[in-house]
Amino acid sequence: DVGRRPDYLSGLNPEQREAVESIDGPVLVLAGAGTGKTRVLTTRIAHILASSKAFPSQILAVTFTNKAAREMKERVGVLVGGAVEGMPWMGTFHSIGVKLLRRHAELCGLRSAFTILDTDDVVRLIKQLIQADGIDDKRWPAKQFAQLIDGWKNKGLSPADIPEGDARAFANGKGRELYAAYQARLKTLNACDFGDLLLHPIKMFREHPDLLKEYHAKFRYILVDEYQDTNTAQYMWLRLLAQRPKGVPQNVCCVGDDDQSIYGWRGAEVDNILRFEKDFVGAKVIKLERNYRSTEHILGAAAHLIAHNEGRLGKTLFTDRSDPDDQKVQVHAAWDSEEEARAVGEEIEQLQRQTHRLNDMAILVRASFQMREFEDRFVTLGLNYRVIGGPRFYERMEIRDALAYFRLVCQDADDLAFERIVNTPKRGLGDTTIRALHDYARARDIPMLAAAAEMIDTDELKAKARKSLFDVVTNFRRWQGLLENTPHTELAETILEESGYTDMWKNDKSAEAPGRLENLKELIRSMEQFESMRGFLEHIALVMDTETNENLDAVSIMTLHSAKGLEFETVFLPGWEEGLFPHQRALDEGGRSGLEEERRLAYVGLTRAKRRCHIWFVSNRRIHGLWQSTLPSRFLDELPVTHVDISEPEQSYGGYNRGGYGQSRFDKQEPFSNTYSTPGWKRAQANKTDATRDNWGSRSGVSIERVGYGESGPRAKTIDGE
Ligand code: ATP
Ligand code: MG
Repeated sequence: DVGRRPDYLSGLNPEQREAVESIDGPVLVLAGAGTGKTRVLTTRIAHILASSKAFPSQILAVTFTNKAAREMKERVGVLVGGAVEGMPWMGTFHSIGVKLLRRHAELCGLRSAFTILDTDDVVRLIKQLIQADGIDDKRWPAKQFAQLIDGWKNKGLSPADIPEGDARAFANGKGRELYAAYQARLKTLNACDFGDLLLHPIKMFREHPDLLKEYHAKFRYILVDEYQDTNTAQYMWLRLLAQRPKGVPQNVCCVGDDDQSIYGWRGAEVDNILRFEKDFVGAKVIKLERNYRSTEHILGAAAHLIAHNEGRLGKTLFTDRSDPDDQKVQVHAAWDSEEEARAVGEEIEQLQRQTHRLNDMAILVRASFQMREFEDRFVTLGLNYRVIGGPRFYERMEIRDALAYFRLVCQDADDLAFERIVNTPKRGLGDTTIRALHDYARARDIPMLAAAAEMIDTDELKAKARKSLFDVVTNFRRWQGLLENTPHTELAETILEESGYTDMWKNDKSAEAPGRLENLKELIRSMEQFESMRGFLEHIALVMDTETNENLDAVSIMTLHSAKGLEFETVFLPGWEEGLFPHQRALDEGGRSGLEEERRLAYVGLTRAKRRCHIWFVSNRRIHGLWQSTLPSRFLDELPVTHVDISEPEQSYGGYNRGGYGQSRFDKQEPFSNTYSTPGWKRAQANKTDATRDNWGSRSGVSIERVGYGESGPRAKTIDGE
């Protein structure tokens, strides 16, 4: 009876409607990208509220980001016609965990005002414990142990649960003991780390059945989005809350897509999907097969690609969003990342001229260092952009640190820069020394660097501090001396090396460290197009000044990982090259699982696009500071020819004749690898006869040669000329 169907239900397909209306009992919605899983969850909440099955405060809804929670809240409001009065239990697992803990801190040995430690705090704390125990913290770095603990916590393991073998993994069997000491120390400090936000609630519910019972009664409905990326601890906590006593319906609804599980590296367990049906007997499993987001070409390309993964649950996807005018997925080749960014910029401007909004466009990168080239290009073009899920390139910590070094070399009096880096990396120059320098400089009206130079000779500072300052001052004087006559990129590298800054990140065992090193290399690379270090710093000052306004029409730039759940009319996917995407780390692992996670990431990327999808690969990329002549990503081979076009670079941006792209072979439906005779390949061949070396060398200052193949198939290797 369509006439009496509430508004929010109209427009849903029968399967979606079933998922929305089956609110009593466990439901698992397992479905591909863009089939309306998130929409089902939102509508389900609206339905629960509209049919007065629960108050907003009785619904527990878990989203993957806090932003997603805010959006869901707004949409529910629209569906039920009016703002929803508070949905206090809508948020990420972590944010809900904090809330539970604040309420019941004493049950976990904490007080309600507990602090949440960030990674830096955690590492410092662990280091103290390691040293106090007489363990060599060079051999057993605190960072490494912090990650071990985090891994255990993601698996829901307290110190007592650590299996023997695991505990041995650190400090000759002292792992478990240290873990326990760490937890005890946190308690004394009235503090939690991130993992505790999951672990404490589990423990609390297990140890206090009465409390658990209260929450069983409280949370009448539980909903989880992006379920494929929950880790074991999250699953345990969810199961505790959702497995209610016999006779009470287990009103839990999880939606997910095994093909979009992309956080395995952070402990996510896609097997949680399989466990659901086991743990919630009689669960209704609903499949959604109609995709509402993308055109047939985009969907066809994505489906064909992901079919190369083994061990999938397998799903069908179809769309009737097809139109003879629909564009196929466009694959473009470029010479290097600069040209890639230029061409993407041109494409965007062209779309803009056809009155497409920048808000509807996104650039999704595999690694954050790739963003820099686009940001620079867009600043030059005056195109608005925003970086989602992280700071903009030049605002990253390691970039700001490096820039502070450069600024101080160029400009003696930059005290802010001085203060930023004088003790980064650590040189034993603590607050007392800085304050003394500050006072000295103020009293004499001289820059702090000059004050440091003078104070070396006084006895106002401790001997150790004087020695450190002496090194700092000598270094800066030397670098300043090099400023005029050394190529500025070379000087920049020298500064980062000699200051110990690069080493600081090389010795850093945290998960972000390799990315930060990549960013530093990218920073140096970005200086190449400037005449001097001063010219470069001026440019940076301008880039930093462009504001990011929420209401601005702007292109989004983000990593593939943070694009989960989002959609855009036009999506650009740059950097589809072996070693970047799939990422070298996944290839080095050798096994199937790393590569398959990369492929799922590619699937996530493609399926963000509604109407237009452009993939790029370049023939030369500077990775880890080395120019590499790269091969097109294997994922390109895995795209079906019926849904993909290679665009001729000569047409899209003229004056760049690089010879045939084997279009004819492509038409004969041969795999991509045979299709691309990439410029990189050509150049590398030509290089052997020195034919193009000059041309190439003049751009990059290095020569390049292809020297061989890796074990897992042909791979480019490069000798750097530097
Ligand atoms: P992902 O796996 O990427 O998270 P999803 O399954 O959560 O995707 P949604 O984001 O909920 O999919 O929906 C994709 C798009 O399709 C949205 O724009 C949504 O509004 C639209 N959509 C979903 N269901 C319908 C429907 N029945 N009618 C029209 N549009 C729909
Ligand atoms: Mg979704």
